[in-house]
This record gives sequence, structure tokens and C-alpha cells, in this order.
Amino acid sequence: MTADARHQVIRNALVLRPGAQQAEPLDILIEGDTIRELGPHGMAVPDGATVVDGARRLIHPGLINAHTHGHGALAKAMGDRWSLELLLAAGPWISGNRSLEDKYLSAALNAAEMVLKGCTACYDLFMEVPAPSLEGMQAIARAYGDVGMRATIAPMVADMSLYQAIPGLYDALPSTLQDAVDKMRPQPYAATLKDVAVFLKKPGVQSDRLKLALAPTIPLHCSDDFLCACRDCARGHGIGLHSHVAESKIQALAAVTRYKRTITAHIDALGLLGPQFTVAHGIWLDDDDMRRLADHGASVAHNPGSNMRLGNGIADMRGLLKAGVNVAIGTDGSNSADNQNMYEATRLASFASKVRGPDLMRWITTPEAMHAATEGGARALGFAGQIGRIEPGYKADLVFVDLDHINWLPHTRTVNQLVHVEDGTAVRRVMIGGRVVAQDGRLLTVDLASLGRQAEAARERLSAANEPMRLLAEKLQDAVGTFCIGMAREPYTVDRYGSRVQ
Ligand SMILES: [Zn+2]
Repeated sequence: MTADARHQVIRNALVLRPGAQQAEPLDILIEGDTIRELGPHGMAVPDGATVVDGARRLIHPGLINAHTHGHGALAKAMGDRWSLELLLAAGPWISGNRSLEDKYLSAALNAAEMVLKGCTACYDLFMEVPAPSLEGMQAIARAYGDVGMRATIAPMVADMSLYQAIPGLYDALPSTLQDAVDKMRPQPYAATLKDVAVFLKKPGVQSDRLKLALAPTIPLHCSDDFLCACRDCARGHGIGLHSHVAESKIQALAAVTRYKRTITAHIDALGLLGPQFTVAHGIWLDDDDMRRLADHGASVAHNPGSNMRLGNGIADMRGLLKAGVNVAIGTDGSNSADNQNMYEATRLASFASKVRGPDLMRWITTPEAMHAATEGGARALGFAGQIGRIEPGYKADLVFVDLDHINWLPHTRTVNQLVHVEDGTAVRRVMIGGRVVAQDGRLLTVDLASLGRQAEAARERLSAANEPMRLLAEKLQDAVGTFCIGMAREPYTVDRYGSRVQ
């Protein structure tokens, strides 16, 4: 009997089916990259199918990270007490002077961490300083291909700097710093979108493993003309749009000054919202904003860990779900949330809902958190109906968890345990499109040790090259920090902080 390269069957595992709270004993037949059949242990399969032993393994759908930044990996842990605005002020220091190899390396490291921690697909908003380049975008796509991870990748674009985006901030800077930040203004948007358009038109870039999208970084950092150009570009190419909307209270307040309405109302009026639109964070959304997002079928990528880390507050996930918004979960970049652990992000989505108040009915349940981390993410990434469920017809993006690991001794309620106990340490195998990408904590696709050596060399070279930018960032921290803390004391229609502003 010859081995059948097309078919493999996973036998004797416990499998988490969509909507179930408890895993069931099932075998999984995979043909190529797709799940073909689920059946009782010992079910009949085509002759010669490769048999994979799943005994003492729980198999759950690969987690889907709906918001990360590939460029963040080389800047992990570089900051501590950073608000979002201080992180943005530090951007030229922590992300500047990257070579093409650095850009590839950072995306590959980021993808490697996600895969090793049970995540099989992501929405990556990657940044190139000063603007996206054709080679850079190709390098990011190559990184995902090499790691073997599914991704929707979106170059970040803007035509205004932080200092132009927040009314009053530029004027609050001493003149020497004004001169310095004047040099940071992004190039006109037509030039920025030129390379993006060339990349989008390249044949063979998009596949069932890689999709492209566009990320107008933060609406306030884009002129209205630019936002409309992004809208037309996305519509013309049938791709997604992803933007950091109402992430900080500073942004929410700045919008009232600049737009005389909320950010969401503004981008709605410009025609950006639609099922292809993903809001990152969405902490400072009010009821009307949530209704608008729901009406347009948009998604929100909820990043509870990053939201706490940057002091932006706690998003109202229950409010979003109640309004009918598709909610997905993200880690955010390692430059702001410092790791790429989707188990942790999912756990925090549950926990964050529980510190918002005593009404249990507003708390997020573990099945809701799990749904957001799988199917919610699939929809945000533009992969709805293809990933996020273990079901015939879906891609075989599967995570094998070791039921003999301490996290599972004893195994009681599967979904509670996945969301509240598992932290990635019991992951034994990660399969993406039927291909084993990680096994027993090792990547089978790229040489992590070699990437690590390159990362150490890059860190050394970049910290020397970016030293002037570090010194500038240090000077900006005081001025930007003082201005933003003062601004954050102003009242706003919703309050998402953990306590009253002091
Ligand atoms: Zn982000």
C-alpha cells in the first residue's frame, strides 16, 4: 500500500467543535490543506492516508490574532511607562533606520512567536519608516511565507505626524523641539500610495494564505483627502482597511476639536466604514459609534493587554457585542504589549470585562472570548468561512494541546480551561493548512536560532544608529507626556479608565 500524500487522519484526539464548551473524542480527516471529515474514533478513511496519533491531545482551532505589528518584534520591551502618545513619539527611535533585512527579520520573529504560542493567522499592520516601500512589503510577505503562517498584511500609512494630529501639541513644544519634529512630517500621500498600488497590482501576491489590506494608521494622522484615497484604493482592490480608532482619550478629545464629531462619525461620513473595515482598540467609542460600526458590519480588534499596558483604558466589549459588532482579539505589537501570546490576550479579554463593574451579565463569557479569538478574527482578517472553526471545508489550522501538561491536570471544562488556564506552554504541535509548522516548541519552517543571532546583531546596530533619535525621544517624553496628561483630564462623553482621572 502506498502512502497517500493528499490525506492524513488525526486519530484518538479530543476535538473542540464550533460552539461546543467541551471537546469530544473525534478523528479528523484532512485532504491537502482542508478538513474533509470529522467522525468517531476509528472512522474509515481513504487507503494510505497518513495516520497522526492524537492520543492525550486536545485539538482546538488555531487562534487568530486580529491586530499585531510585525515591526514591533525588534522593539520588544524597549519601553515601560509609555502612553500611546509617548510610544508614537518614540517611533523614530525604536523603528527607525531598519534595513530590508531588519524588516523581514522583525516580521519573521513576530510570526514565529505567534505560531509557537498557538496562533495560526494574524492581521499585521506593519510600519516602514518613513513610508512603505515595494521591497519592504515584499519582505513582509516573504516572512509569513517562510514561517508558514496565514496573514492579512497591511502597510501603515499616514500623511500627518503626531504633532500635527493633536491640536495644541505642536504649540506646546519648545521651539528647538518644534524644529526637530518638523523634520518628521510624512511625505505627501500620493507618493506613499504609489508603491502600495504597485504592490497590490502584482500578480500572485495574494493567496489563500496571504491577503493584503491597507492601514491608515490613525484617522487623525491622515488628512481627509488621504482617508478618501485609502477608501478608494481598498474598494478598488477589494481589500480590507484597518485603523486605530479611538484608542486613547487624547484621540477622542482631539476629534471633537478637529472634526466637531467623533472619529467614528467622521470616517463614517467619509464613507470608510463597511464589512471590510476593522477598528483597532475602539476603547473610547460611544453608543452611537458602536451602532454605526454594527450597521456597517465592521469589526473591532480588541487588544485588552495593550490597552492596559499603554494606559488607554478598558474597551467595552459587551457594549460592542450588544450593538452587534463583530469583535476579534489582538495582542497589538510587541513594541506596545510586549509579547505575542493570543492565549494571554484572550484571557485578558475575559478578565478586563470583569473589572468594569459588578453586573455579571455584562461580563464576557469564555465561549464569547474563544469565539472572538477564532471566528471573530477570521471575519476581521477577511477569511470568514475558511478558518476559525474545526469543521469540514475549513482549512486545517489546528493546535494540539498536551492534556498531560500541568495546565490540563485535570481537564474539566474545555473552553473555560483554554481561556482561563492555558498560556501556550501546553502547545505541542501547530498545523497550518495541514502542514506541521511547529512541533514540541520548535519551528520546523525557519531556523529560529539563526533568526535570533541576526536579531542580536540588528539590535546592536540599530541602537547605535538610532541613538540621536533616542535622545530626541527622551526630550519629547516630558513635553508630550505633560501635554497629554493635562488633556486627558478634560471630560469626555464616555469614561474607559480604571479609575477617575487624578
Ligand atoms: Zn496597533
